[in-house]
Amino acid sequence: MLSDIEIAQKAKLHHIKEIAAQLNVAEDQLEQYGKHKAKLPLSLIDDEKAAKSNLILVTAITPTPAGEGKTTTSIGLADGLAAIGKKVAVVLREPSLGPVFGIKGGAAGGGYSQVVPMEDINLHFTGDFSAIEKANNLLAALIDNNIQSKTRSLGIDPRTVLWKRCMDMNDRSLRKIVSALGGKSGGIPMETGFNITAASEIMAILCLSNNLEDLKDRLGNIYVGDTFSGKAVYARDLKAQGAMAALLKDAIKPNLVQTLENVPAFIHGGPFANIAQGTNSVIATKMGMSLADYVVTEAGFGADLGAEKFFNIKCRNAGISPRAVVLVATIRALKYHGGKALSELKEPDAEAVKAGSENLRKHLETIASFKVPAVVCVNRFQADTDEEVEALKSVCQEYGVEVAVSDGFVKGGEGTKGLARAVIGALGRSGEGFRPTYDLKDPVREKIEKVCKTVYGAKYVILSNKAKSQLRRFEELGFGELPICIAKTQKSLSDDEKLLGRPVNFDIHIREFEIAAGAGFLIPIAGNILRMPGLPGIPSAEGMDIDANGNISGLS
Ligand code: ADP
Ligand code: MG
Repeated sequence: MLSDIEIAQKAKLHHIKEIAAQLNVAEDQLEQYGKHKAKLPLSLIDDEKAAKSNLILVTAITPTPAGEGKTTTSIGLADGLAAIGKKVAVVLREPSLGPVFGIKGGAAGGGYSQVVPMEDINLHFTGDFSAIEKANNLLAALIDNNIQSKTRSLGIDPRTVLWKRCMDMNDRSLRKIVSALGGKSGGIPMETGFNITAASEIMAILCLSNNLEDLKDRLGNIYVGDTFSGKAVYARDLKAQGAMAALLKDAIKPNLVQTLENVPAFIHGGPFANIAQGTNSVIATKMGMSLADYVVTEAGFGADLGAEKFFNIKCRNAGISPRAVVLVATIRALKYHGGKALSELKEPDAEAVKAGSENLRKHLETIASFKVPAVVCVNRFQADTDEEVEALKSVCQEYGVEVAVSDGFVKGGEGTKGLARAVIGALGRSGEGFRPTYDLKDPVREKIEKVCKTVYGAKYVILSNKAKSQLRRFEELGFGELPICIAKTQKSLSDDEKLLGRPVNFDIHIREFEIAAGAGFLIPIAGNILRMPGLPGIPSAEGMDIDANGNISGLS
């Protein structure tokens, strides 16, 4: 089979105005970025139309390091729905350059289930990440400038400032730095650092905003730090929100591109799935729902992180609800959860598949707790044997859940028609919106317990003393009624990445809290969370090239 980029370069792209026409959007409403990319104005969002659309969430079992194929399946499913005659759009996150040049590669799907132009989507795209970076760094500069000022100082204690600069690159050297060296005119030296852009609160804010006004309010609500007398300082105290929002005036508009099969695809925003909500912008999802009858979207990592936050943070905030959930499983991941080592995953082992399906069962229980119907999707890899696939099918039968095999990677929409039909069947069983895991008025500790017990299957939640005192402070500041965004490893249902399958009898340890007051959630932290990754020993960047005619190679 050809490589992803070879397949993408052979694609017959339609002009973006033709893709927009499929959604009944006229050419003069498009802000075109060349022939194959465009931004759409927010005025096309129509809440009444959106309420009638069928939103389908694609999530996954606990992933192996390679990823289980949620993006690939989302794109394949959209192509499959189009192939059976439905008016559909897929709505996804924008790739970050960190993973593109690191290990994981791009995030534009794979095989014959991709969005194009893949080189553009993976590299800079329409500049949204750059705008987010600038807005983030403007606030950093305004904070430092205020600390330096003799006449307009708010009295910010530099030791309490948690706001960092950001950049869209895996660059561990910037993770922790000392800034403002160079004497009096260089500012007050501070211990600080850089986050990768996807981990910036601005990204989370952009993706939860409903419109420009809402964006500006949220930017103003960013918690900057405290004064020497202990008073909280917000971005609005620095009058930062207006200029920051102005920098984001185009970034807030969703980007339209297409799949290899010329199905409309919105790609917009890409927040981390641990310290943030891990899903594309509310605006892009609502835009898709305003313009298409079926909308397929994805939430990062496994259902314990991505789907939980998708429901409890994003959908609650946006007033939307998926009508069906697709749980992606791969044979190799099930074998991994069933006890096989990473190096042995190519060996056929139907028994390991069965053993590993306990992990799948837990995620199905979680989806059931939201009262939304589920379909299991087996994302087929070449090495999978029929016996292994049958083993998974019989397990799903036992659990009473519909299962469909996706061959989207090899066959595109032709290989996902069965999945598309199964999803249509599930949509027929959907009820009146989802049931959240917790009430916003529940005490914070109870919210955490509800997620840890219902979604992770934990026994107890243990808060460190530091976490307890931070929580008291955040409650005093009035953040107690925000939703929670638990930062935890994606490699296990528990907070210990070595516990695979379906761990039981474990506790979740909340070591500390952070606040994303602008985005509007509290972050209980259960583990080591890296906001600025490093490059691996052999970075993907080394394999990339561009020829004299501008053709890019080696991007995956
Ligand atoms: P996720 O969204 O869950 O992180 P992706 O869809 O990005 O996963 O897929 C992760 C990687 O696996 C990508 O490189 C993709 O091309 C590859 N991949 C996905 N599905 C298949 C498949 N069925 N066969 C082979 N490779 C696949
Ligand atoms: Mg993905």
